[in-house]
Amino acid sequence: MSAKPSHLFYQGRERKPVLDQARGVYMWDVDGKRYLDGSSGAMVCNIGHSNENVLEAMRRQMEKSTFGYRLHFETEASEKLASKTAALTPEGLNRVFFVSGGSEAVESAIKLARQYALAVGQGSRWKVISRSPSYHGCTLGALAITGYAPLTKPFEPMMQMMPKVPAPRAYLDGLDPDDIATGHHYAHMLEAQILAEGPESVLAFIVEPVGGASTGALVPPRGYMERVQEICRQYGVLFILDEVMTGAGRTGKFLASEHWNLEPDIMVMSKGFAAGYMPLGGMAAHERLVEPVLDAGGFLHGFTYAGNPLACAAGLAVIDEIERLGLVRNAALMGEKLLTRLRELMDRHAIIGDVRGMGLLTAFEFMSDRATKAPLPKELRAFDRFVQIAYVKGLIVYSRRTRDGVEGDHVLVCPPMIVNETHLDEITEMLDAALAQFTAEIRP
Ligand code: PLP
Repeated sequence: MSAKPSHLFYQGRERKPVLDQARGVYMWDVDGKRYLDGSSGAMVCNIGHSNENVLEAMRRQMEKSTFGYRLHFETEASEKLASKTAALTPEGLNRVFFVSGGSEAVESAIKLARQYALAVGQGSRWKVISRSPSYHGCTLGALAITGYAPLTKPFEPMMQMMPKVPAPRAYLDGLDPDDIATGHHYAHMLEAQILAEGPESVLAFIVEPVGGASTGALVPPRGYMERVQEICRQYGVLFILDEVMTGAGRTGKFLASEHWNLEPDIMVMSKGFAAGYMPLGGMAAHERLVEPVLDAGGFLHGFTYAGNPLACAAGLAVIDEIERLGLVRNAALMGEKLLTRLRELMDRHAIIGDVRGMGLLTAFEFMSDRATKAPLPKELRAFDRFVQIAYVKGLIVYSRRTRDGVEGDHVLVCPPMIVNETHLDEITEMLDAALAQFTAEIRP
């Protein structure tokens, strides 16, 4: 732990160990302590740390140029990454706009949607419906469509908060997620909201295909995703998929939308796309949206670092490595094995009330009573305390409160997609020990 006073600040006063180096799935602090990166940072480092081919591609790019302002130059790296992204995203999403992170990508998507509506004479449409809980970013636009009260409340007077519909948490509502009626039940909440708002005022619906930090790897019930897409089409509402966390192989397909053959109007990506090697995000939009905006005078939006050649070179090399090493398939295979291990932990530890996930986006949720699904008392700050216990044992996991941000705690276990079974054993052993210690602390 660093003892020196610091000029840096992030969320709180707590000081963290100082990172020295990272290789593959492991990270070391300056005192030589080793950590297994069981959350890929914040579900970012999908291909593991210090991948030599990515570093080499970055070195090559650095020797050529590290910056070219988008109003002065196009770059080979951004052109190539745009083509690659268009090829990997669903049919028609062939116009790509680069940014430096997920919040910027979400901002870009909602601004493009609004400008499109204006360009085609639908200026009455401005509301972006999202779900609660959800997380779409921390900038004020992205926060207005985020359903997570502790983060949004202080800023609400400064934002135009957008309408929310409940996320489909069948496990809490006692509904069968494999029954298509369950999926349709939640999807129809979107339809009801669109009708209540007045369809002519609704611009878009944005959704994380598999929930991330907000709902803790919530997998939608059968039929839900297909039905919400249909409802959007029916009411002329743009369908935006936030694949910031689920993209780049995390759920066992390159994009989570592939699990349901979805065809969104806009898709946003970040995190795994450059896998932590550089800050990079992007939006892939249907040309049917982009062309009218360009015809009407251009897209009124852009960031200084958009399309940064070094970030794009890193992104291209990351996708090459995902393909070369077969990491999407590995995420699907290892994800199944990880879910089995988490279910075994649930058999041994009564404080786990639910296990869920897809590919290597997996989570468990703490409950004080499985029958009533009651959460652990808020005062225990389980999400904080459990992460700390695991951390001391050398395992990094990611945790959040889950139920609208006021109660309930989940722990995301999302190691890099290069993991093998030995790594999974190591993760399981450390989780087992951390769960035993945590239970002993709260139920002495
Ligand atoms: N969207 C989703 C689904 C996310 O999980 C996140 C970050 O966790 C964001 C958007 C915001 O991304 P960033 O933190 O890169 O701004």
